Amino acid sequence: MERPAKLVIASHNPGKVREIEDLLRPLGIAVVGAAALGLIEPEETGHSFAENAALKARTAAEAAKLPALADDSGLAVAALDGAPGIYSARWAGPAKDFSLAMRKVEEALKGKADRRAKFVAALALAWPDGRCDVFEGEAEGALVWPPRGTKGFGYDPMFVPAGYAITFGEMEPGKKHEMSHRARAFAKLVQAWTA
Ligand code: IMP
Repeated sequence: MERPAKLVIASHNPGKVREIEDLLRPLGIAVVGAAALGLIEPEETGHSFAENAALKARTAAEAAKLPALADDSGLAVAALDGAPGIYSARWAGPAKDFSLAMRKVEEALKGKADRRAKFVAALALAWPDGRCDVFEGEAEGALVWPPRGTKGFGYDPMFVPAGYAITFGEMEPGKKHEMSHRARAFAKLVQAWTA
């Protein structure tokens, strides 16, 4: 698969942009931010992480006339049949308040013993000519209450990855990158570039 020399990160979420930049840095690929190009995020009308990632990447690639990388991700809670899932950002409301989103998850889990959850990420790389490839990664774990740590973003403070005692919010970013859903999807993309 062709590897771009320069790409747009099709996201306005600073937490995601920072993590994707960290992942791309060692590959020497030049990065342009979607916000810097004045790109508008399309409405996420897809029914899966993969569909929404492809939608965002295609829209940005067409507008910027550059290859674009988009991430669609979220938290899937086992006892909630995979919610909030593709609606993870929306559970935080218009103010993007993730303390509120985490409280909603905790309230929905009241009385349920099963605390298993996973983060899912779909990364889509689209080209201005319409080509698009999607790669998915997951990170399994369990939810804790109250939330702990200020290092990550989104639902990180209530998510303890399997095999660890600390939350993603308490974990150093480099450590999170060793096991995160986004890093796993990214590893598949890099593998496709080097295959
Ligand atoms: P979207 O992909 O922009 O629609 O939103 C995904 C949402 O899922 C983010 O706003 C976060 O709330 C949540 N999310 C995705 N990845 C992570 C992560 O690595 N840590 C914490 N929350 C995440």
